Amino acid sequence: MVDFDSDLRPLLGDRTVKALAAAFDIRTVEEALRHYPRRYFQRGQLTDFGGLSVGEDVTVLAEIRRVSSRKGSARGRKPVHLTEVTIGDSTGRGTLLATFFNQIWREQELKVGARGLFAGKVNSFRGTLQLVHPDYTLLPRTLIDADEVTEFVSELIPVYPATSKMPSWRVAAAIELVLAAVDDLPDPLSPDIRREFGLVDFAEAMRGIHAPRDQGQVAAAQHRLRWEEAFVLQAELMRRRAARRATSAVPRTPTSAGLVAALDRHLPFELTAGQVAVSEEIATDMARTHPMLRLLQGDVGSGKTVVALRSMLATVDAGAQAALLAPTEVLAAQHYATVLDLLGPLARRGQIMGDDRGTAVVLLTGSMGARDRRQALVQVASGEAGIVIGTHALMSHTVDFADLGLVVVDEQHRFGVEQRAALQAKADGDSHPHTLVMTATPIPRTIAMTVFGDLDVSTLIERPASRSATMTHVVPAVARPDFLARAWQRCREEVGAGHQVYIVCPRITEEDPSGQTSPPGYPPTAVVDLVEYLQAGPLTGLRIATMHGKLTPAEKEAAMRAFALGPQDPDGVDVLVSTTVIEVGVDVPGATVMIIIDADRFGVSSLHQLRGRVGRGSAGGLCLLVTSASPGSAAEKRLRAVAATDDGFELSEIDLRNRREGDVLGASQSGRVNSLRFLSVLDDGDLIEHARAAAEALLEADPELLDHPELAAALDRLAASEAGDYLEKT
Ligand code: ADP
Ligand code: MG
Repeated sequence: MVDFDSDLRPLLGDRTVKALAAAFDIRTVEEALRHYPRRYFQRGQLTDFGGLSVGEDVTVLAEIRRVSSRKGSARGRKPVHLTEVTIGDSTGRGTLLATFFNQIWREQELKVGARGLFAGKVNSFRGTLQLVHPDYTLLPRTLIDADEVTEFVSELIPVYPATSKMPSWRVAAAIELVLAAVDDLPDPLSPDIRREFGLVDFAEAMRGIHAPRDQGQVAAAQHRLRWEEAFVLQAELMRRRAARRATSAVPRTPTSAGLVAALDRHLPFELTAGQVAVSEEIATDMARTHPMLRLLQGDVGSGKTVVALRSMLATVDAGAQAALLAPTEVLAAQHYATVLDLLGPLARRGQIMGDDRGTAVVLLTGSMGARDRRQALVQVASGEAGIVIGTHALMSHTVDFADLGLVVVDEQHRFGVEQRAALQAKADGDSHPHTLVMTATPIPRTIAMTVFGDLDVSTLIERPASRSATMTHVVPAVARPDFLARAWQRCREEVGAGHQVYIVCPRITEEDPSGQTSPPGYPPTAVVDLVEYLQAGPLTGLRIATMHGKLTPAEKEAAMRAFALGPQDPDGVDVLVSTTVIEVGVDVPGATVMIIIDADRFGVSSLHQLRGRVGRGSAGGLCLLVTSASPGSAAEKRLRAVAATDDGFELSEIDLRNRREGDVLGASQSGRVNSLRFLSVLDDGDLIEHARAAAEALLEADPELLDHPELAAALDRLAASEAGDYLEKT
């Protein structure tokens, strides 16, 4: 019996099997069937040549209009026999010249009035578009009666992704043979589901895709396949979630009069309703006997840190340890400072000024000195340190926890799953720590379901009331030098009012100072040069510090600390000129202005993250996007879009729409079996929701998929495919 995994060899000839493998990496029945046509030609309808361009590989349906042969010779070369076949298009005006050298016999085969598919690379010869030695296949012309003519003319011809060795019609011929065997293939979608959602079965879908009689069949087949993609993916994610639920974790239920209560008393603000609700969701998850895996998404400045901190303290109150993983040293150091600041003596248990009802908080980063590191490791291993904050150094195998109860990963988009898994593996034996993943890159719900479908998701929607709006403006510095001058003036005003200013540059130093091509009047775009320029001119007299990846950790820390002190402090810094190292998480509430130089070099989400660094306190924020892009250009329009909304969800959708679907999911474009071929995570939201609900119901009723072996097999195939690899990596 033919199965999805069956070899193509018994079905196809040796030569074809080899050619399919070489051209498209197609080896199994499923891979052949999933090699879907790119489009369809209708026999009666010729291609319109208007859309063709030089250099393009094309397959066209055309009619032969003229055939002629002549002798030609290029200077100094042997004479050649040239056969020129003019083929015409649907408009009757467009023509292509199909040219053959020394193949007189083509004249016998290519007759005026015949129609056929021609494939090749378009080039231009003396102003005429031509195909040199195109591959072609002619359509049969022996038609008997009128009905047959109509049927013949309306028949659809699939056009496959093709190569010069495997033109579309050879692919079609091979797939036709495979197709004859598919009636037996097990359908991953059960009859119940097909009935409920009005979907054709697998065999019919395959006929509808590869050998359709009309567009209606194509549409029904595509709909069914789109549905199948969504359903199989969701079922796989559900299965992973179920597998996680089958593993064990120690429930962590905090005592009521512990550090959480102490933190709440010390907080300089009221928690928002959203923060309270999410904290409760986390507490409920952590009281379970299976590990939590929750994604907390919230726009920049929505107050995720305090939610994380409360959960970490709850873990300590339950007698265990919590780890906070930050993507950069700057951020780890900042979190450490925030925790010490908020907990005061309660974070210094065991120290002179410490409170023994508290716990020890340690920072663990890669750049720490050996002695400090050893001391920290001892505190972690003994359980003395209730809270451990660090960078990826936390995942090193030399770090041994006494009893790790909770892992918080801040800014998840910077971490791969391997790292998450490495940390999870740090818990003892078979039990896993609870995990909270936080991201400030909000993603639309259907994408979250598709990419993070095996996670539970919490969303912080509102921003704390104390946060004020940030106004964003585009500064076209070349067209309007007065705007730029005004920007520097605003910096001075804000510093005068006691606030700090960030200025972000795309690079540290000018790669090639002699090759400086900045337009006149435009500021330098590298940190080092800009600082010089500002000190000498627009911001003379202000205290400016720099921040970038080449500084030592101590230098970075000193710069951040001075910047946090601000203009009112004698040791403070007024302006921080930085690269994007401050993009995520950095929280200096007194900073009110963010100036981004060459803003068009940054992505939409980076700009949004950067601007999230200001407007954190009670004073409103101002973000200026400085650009040399001319007004009306695509780059400038993108900046205007960022300026127009402060809603991260809206922006991420704009951002995603500008990218290819494949990039959204990170799927490879290599043309192999890729699990999402028809499904669009951006456009098929409703369908994904339905498929998810159906998958959830099915797995709830039959968790082992004992009654659904076809689906189980499809999930195994998915897990084994590249898409599966990708899911593992998110
Ligand atoms: P993000 O979600 O981007 O990580 P943070 O956790 O850094 O945001 O919070 C942004 C700022 O808002 C911080 O200065 C924080 O102290 C403050 N904040 C958090 N929660 C509240 C609240 N409920 N009320 C007022 N300010 C808050
Ligand atoms: Mg944060």
